[in-house]
Amino acid sequence: MSSNAKTIHQHKIDIVNVGKMMYDRRFIIAGDGNLSVRLDDDTILATPTALCKGMLSPDQIVKLDLTGNVLDSEYKPSSEIKMHLAAYNTRPDVRAVVHAHPPISTGFAVAGIPLDQLILAEMVVNFGAIPLAPYYSPSTEELAESVAEKVKCHDAVLMANHGVMTIGPDLYTTYHRLEMVEQFATISLVAHLLGKMQTFSPEQLRDLYAIREKSGVGAQNPYHTKCPFPGKQTANGQNIHNISEKIAPNSSPDIESLVDVITRVVISALR
Ligand SMILES: [Zn+2]
Repeated sequence: MSSNAKTIHQHKIDIVNVGKMMYDRRFIIAGDGNLSVRLDDDTILATPTALCKGMLSPDQIVKLDLTGNVLDSEYKPSSEIKMHLAAYNTRPDVRAVVHAHPPISTGFAVAGIPLDQLILAEMVVNFGAIPLAPYYSPSTEELAESVAEKVKCHDAVLMANHGVMTIGPDLYTTYHRLEMVEQFATISLVAHLLGKMQTFSPEQLRDLYAIREKSGVGAQNPYHTKCPFPGKQTANGQNIHNISEKIAPNSSPDIESLVDVITRVVISALR
């Protein structure tokens, strides 16, 4: 069923369900994070401020317009809704936005390391690269604008010293992108600790770009044709492929840290 065909109540139930999955997977705790869905050109549904997104009920979901005016709720949306509005206003193809603080990808955001190491085929095909938006105080216009700038060419963004935002054509795809970002961050960390990180050759990357293009990822994005592929020169002359140096492998693997990370990942998967 396309997102357009769903009733408002069904969209609210989706938001409740995805909030619970984010909470269960510990991508958010307490009152963290926020989710939204575009209903049409002018209106969205969004999670309320402060409440735990793992324990919401459909009547707590807020309807608002794309300038942030609440249309029909006694609840207030999160002050971080500005980032969502900026993403919807920047890209008409975006129909859902999710923001969370998954611990390992947020760790990369705290370390100032974008997830643009081209080391996993699926990530190159699905995302290209995952950039890092500079730090601004939460809930500010500056933060919203800097994230919106990144989503012109990316469907997932790390936010420095804060967390992760993903966008997509529907809420479940957008949530799955968040899962993929956290998984990719975990794999990157393990490869780093193992002391060896092999990147793709230019030929292998070309093949992956071809698959990405063929799959139509991003084709609805109005900025699509202007977006550089990872591994090519960006507008400021930076070669994204070489940014993997930022997370150069450990020369001597720290086995204790590795075991610790793997143990945590396994334990959290079993919860
Ligand atoms: Zn946040």
